[in-house]
Amino acid sequence: MEQVDIAVIGAGPAGSSAAAWAARGGASVVLFEKATQGREKSCGDGLTPRAVIECRRLGIDLDRFHRIDGLRVQAGSKVREVLWPDGAFPPVGAVAPRAEFDAMVMQAAIDSGADFRENSPAELWIEDGRVLGVICHGEKVRAHLTVIASGAGSPAARAVGAARVASSPFGLAIRGYISSTRSDDRHMEACLTVKGPDGSIVPGYGWVFPAGNGIVNIGVGALSTMKNFSDLNLNTMLDAYTAQVRDSWGLGEFIARPKAWRLPMHVEHRGGPGWVVVGDAAGLVNPFNGEGIDYALESGRHIAECFLAEPGTAWASYQAIMRKEYDPFFATARRFAWLIGRPKLLQFLLGIALSTKFTMKLVLDIMANLVDMEHPGLAGRSLTIGGKVLSLADPLLVRSPKKREKRPTTPVG
Ligand SMILES: Cc1cc2nc3c(=O)[nH]c(=O)nc-3n(C[C@H](O)[C@H](O)[C@H](O)COP(=O)(O)OP(=O)(O)OC[C@H]3O[C@@H](n4cnc5c(N)ncnc54)[C@H](O)[C@@H]3O)c2cc1C
Repeated sequence: MEQVDIAVIGAGPAGSSAAAWAARGGASVVLFEKATQGREKSCGDGLTPRAVIECRRLGIDLDRFHRIDGLRVQAGSKVREVLWPDGAFPPVGAVAPRAEFDAMVMQAAIDSGADFRENSPAELWIEDGRVLGVICHGEKVRAHLTVIASGAGSPAARAVGAARVASSPFGLAIRGYISSTRSDDRHMEACLTVKGPDGSIVPGYGWVFPAGNGIVNIGVGALSTMKNFSDLNLNTMLDAYTAQVRDSWGLGEFIARPKAWRLPMHVEHRGGPGWVVVGDAAGLVNPFNGEGIDYALESGRHIAECFLAEPGTAWASYQAIMRKEYDPFFATARRFAWLIGRPKLLQFLLGIALSTKFTMKLVLDIMANLVDMEHPGLAGRSLTIGGKVLSLADPLLVRSPKKREKRPTTPVG
């Protein structure tokens, strides 16, 4: 029987990053992908500076993609822009269509020495409650560590109890590609005042991310904390948002049918003897802005580093990193998601946010994920204080999961 150090299920950014870093460190790695190199993924394709720095660490050259210099936020009639600052992260972003971007990250894993197997749907091999490796095409592969990187709603993650925390918010989003006369714009644009089924502003946003070559990625996303979430129809919302920005972006026709998918934001149980979850399978999507590529790449690197340092306890040291470096920020962001789920409060907060340069800068820093909690600055400190204050209101903020579990009817996939 085949025996390896690490088996990875799923070659998205999380799985490919884990495979690349582990193989570079000398581990034997097999990377299973149920699709092929160059598969599509429903995504805004936006890489913020935080994602760019992680790509650079991996040696992935983003020059071929359309460069982005900053973020433009629109809310009602107000429009504000920020250029990426030159600080903890490089002042560079990109719009990188996922089919091409993910193929590059997969290639980085292959070039690092990982054994990449496409068209290979894998499931966990569990015996007596212990994960021993994976089974693919009926063949067992024994692994010291199995990394579950199979994305949102992963059955493998559920099989080991790494399910989404039912009482926590999650997101749904849809994106399409459409021709545009402004595809060379160097700002990502986000509109904070998209409306839901009852005409009130939803907690979420609409975006236009210019990809160059005459194309933009356009989409809308909403948080499950919104009022009337079960009535949410992302297709209708996307149509309305497209109509809203059609003239300003010189939009033409959609290139393919828009696709929706989930954004998981909280998984508590992220590892056990012989296994861990990374990326979306670990619920690592930022509730403030729906960004997950950077966290996928980072979590892949963390587990590889933990394994290379001490294989037997990698699953535990990985969880310790998650708890220390990620959980406080994500907990604050989730509380915020609850807060803005109330339409009147959201309207009020948007009014405040847009009223002064200081609060607007705060919104832009948070939306662009420029907050570096190691060197927090004003935005980081505001988040920490805000998180503490909001934590006092937990019983008031969090609505019953049962009430929210009714899912909207938009088909995802
Ligand atoms: C509409 C939308 C817009 C978004 N926009 C952005 C954005 O602009 N910027 C950003 O940073 N994030 C964005 N995100 C989030 C981002 O797409 C995810 O966070 C990111 O893809 C997570 O990477 P991952 O590797 O964990 O999972 P995925 O990218 O989902 O990769 C999982 C991989 O596992 C494979 N797989 C699944 N099951 C198996 C199996 N059994 N065996 C083998 N392989 C398997 C899949 O084929 C896939 O290749 C968006 C998400 C959505 C839905």
